Amino acid sequence: MNLQYWIDTTECVCGSERPIEGCLHCDLISLQQRLNDLFRTIEATGGVLQSGEEFLGPVGEPEWFDLADAYIGLCTVLEREPVYTKEDE
Ligand SMILES: [Zn+2]
Repeated sequence: MNLQYWIDTTECVCGSERPIEGCLHCDLISLQQRLNDLFRTIEATGGVLQSGEEFLGPVGEPEWFDLADAYIGLCTVLEREPVYTKEDE
């Protein structure tokens, strides 16, 4: 899934003459902004801690494995390179 593709190909209808309740285009832009906030928060501390071939939690909270899994999962579907810091650095 490439979110930018869907944003680019979906027409904004909330600014049209006969606006409908929801606007997928603007919802997608809002989703992209929230996702970027999440990425920025995790990446501000160095991303995810990497030990050998294994990813641990975020550098800011190395025990929080589920958050790192969710982050890497989002990076995968959005075709974004995850930021990581090697444990021994
Ligand atoms: Zn719109």
